[in-house]
Amino acid sequence: MTTDTLGRRLHDLRISVTDRCNFRCPYCMPAEVFGESYKFLPKDEILTFEEIARLTRIFAGLGVSKVRVTGGEPLLRTDLHLLIQMLANVDGVEDLTLTTNGYMLAPRAQQLKDAGLKRITVSLDTLDEEIFRQMNGRGFDPTRVLDGIQAAETAGLSPIKINSVVQKGVNEHTLVDLARHFKGTGHIVRFIEYMDVGNRNGWKWDQVVPAQEIVDLIDAEMPLEPVESNYPGEVANRYRYLDGQGEIGVIASVTQPFCAGCTRARISTDGQLFTCLFASRGISLRDPLRDGADDAQMTEIIAKVWSNRTDRYSEERTDLAATQNAPQKVEMYQIGG
Ligand code: SAM
Ligand code: SF4
Ligand code: SF4
Repeated sequence: MTTDTLGRRLHDLRISVTDRCNFRCPYCMPAEVFGESYKFLPKDEILTFEEIARLTRIFAGLGVSKVRVTGGEPLLRTDLHLLIQMLANVDGVEDLTLTTNGYMLAPRAQQLKDAGLKRITVSLDTLDEEIFRQMNGRGFDPTRVLDGIQAAETAGLSPIKINSVVQKGVNEHTLVDLARHFKGTGHIVRFIEYMDVGNRNGWKWDQVVPAQEIVDLIDAEMPLEPVESNYPGEVANRYRYLDGQGEIGVIASVTQPFCAGCTRARISTDGQLFTCLFASRGISLRDPLRDGADDAQMTEIIAKVWSNRTDRYSEERTDLAATQNAPQKVEMYQIGG
């Protein structure tokens, strides 16, 4: 077991397989920044599937049993199912999941399931067509995402998690509808407090709807009660409907930080290891990998980074903001959510 300076073990790995995306959600990749001329990573700087699989094997040797494939939009990587197949065959990986915006999911859900994908999270901020068009920055309506969710259900990837980022004055008045839509389906909507990831989304405190307010809004229409976590360190606070028609989650990363239980390592598209979603810099794993390091050397590099880890950004956010010392941070699309 590999633990950091605060006694947190290395348990989860999130891998960003592309820095590109077909959406331009203003809270992640605002269109005015990520325009036509934006330079995404060239192919040779991106980890190959073989490199990702090798790193995953090494991480599994250090105690990782949960792997999430993310991005950017991971379904933009053609043949993603081949990577899923490789990762599903890594000894020690018990949970293999994918986060996607769902737009290209419908034709590929079965193929991903057959390749060994265990679970899936589909992001869907709102069912309101006008607001969804605005929130994906591309004017797409939610139909294809809903088709993707349906296809994932048919393929046997249930229960599906549905992620919704909540922004004050943007979609908060549509949350109850989203919750109601999935109530009774077995799928779990998880409402995420809008976070200050990266440096480009212009985040402000007053755009955050606190998790408790989100719960109160839904509870007022469809009564809820809290549920115990499934496991220590679970990021979502769980609530179930009193009428037995399922549950929701709220991810209170801003108002109730959960750094004390944070067991997640992240690999960026270009193979850097980040130990926090809000880190300023990562350590390249791609360079030693391509320079011929063997598994034992790679294990040593990763174990050293993890055992020196001190990150607890969300717990320090208020103090940092007060001192104007907020660091430059990696962008979400580079390391995934
Ligand atoms: N493109 C895929 C998607 O949207 O599901 C995967 C990558 S995306 C970066 C992963 C998750 O991060 C999504 O659920 C997204 O809504 C969430 N996310 C992105 N920016 C965020 C922000 N500023 N605050 C909270 N969640 C955010
Ligand atoms: Fe793309 Fe996901 Fe970021 Fe939206 S949240 S821009 S879908 S990577
Ligand atoms: Fe983990 Fe960093 Fe988020 Fe805290 S702020 S929970 S250390 S990723």
